[in-house]
Amino acid sequence: MSLATPSAPTNVDPAELGKFSEIAHRWWDPTSEFRPLHEINPLRLGWIETMAGGLAGKSVLDVGCGGGILAEAMAAAGAKVTGIDLSEKALGVARLHGLESGVTVDYRLVAAETYASEHPGTHEVVTCMEMLEHVPDPGSVVAACAAAAAPGATLVFATLNRNPKSYAFAILGAEYLLGLLPRGTHDWTKFVRPAELARHARRAGLDLVAMNGMTYHPLSRTYELTPDTSVNYLAAFRKPVHGF
Ligand code: SAH
Repeated sequence: MSLATPSAPTNVDPAELGKFSEIAHRWWDPTSEFRPLHEINPLRLGWIETMAGGLAGKSVLDVGCGGGILAEAMAAAGAKVTGIDLSEKALGVARLHGLESGVTVDYRLVAAETYASEHPGTHEVVTCMEMLEHVPDPGSVVAACAAAAAPGATLVFATLNRNPKSYAFAILGAEYLLGLLPRGTHDWTKFVRPAELARHARRAGLDLVAMNGMTYHPLSRTYELTPDTSVNYLAAFRKPVHGF
């Protein structure tokens, strides 16, 4: 048994990390459990670019980057990307894929809170996608993202809403009926309502810029940006520039 050290991350659910680590070797297989992440990637990348006013040349932090699907896409769009996660396996896959693709991302095994305390006010763009619903204290991750963001930065989160419809679609539909995700991928009770995310962000000093739904069409297997935030949604915030 190892003793907890003062720097050991506490805002982490080892069972959640274990789920991702177990299947990490299939991260870049677009027909695997990670298919939905591949399918939503162009849509969310475009939304991030719009919200941030372009990514080229910008310093980006991707929190909970996993195998690097979004981190690599942002780097390919010209951003200087740092990807952080607490799954060593996922980061290993991300690094290997980067070697194959030739797209450079700086991957680090570190908790968001630790990274933010070591690099405050650093990044022009901070992204945190499909991760908040897997941590014990999402508000702490939002606060860490805000702390790592530079004044004037754009922050973009994506997560799952919590209501009867999201239970029907994201759990029953995606995991049981359509088999898009392995059963047990998501714990509905940990989903984050838009108002809760907005409250976490407000407490961290961020201003809400926009929210959009990402709606899945099972027949065409495509995602579309809609105003409907009842299941999957994206939210953009700005860190104010003080002193002007
Ligand atoms: N953001 C990526 C991956 C989403 S999968 C994408 O959208 O493509 C969720 C990721 O969150 C996994 O890589 C998992 O390891 C990571 N994760 C879960 N809990 C975490 C925590 N407490 N700290 C950091 N990463 C965590």
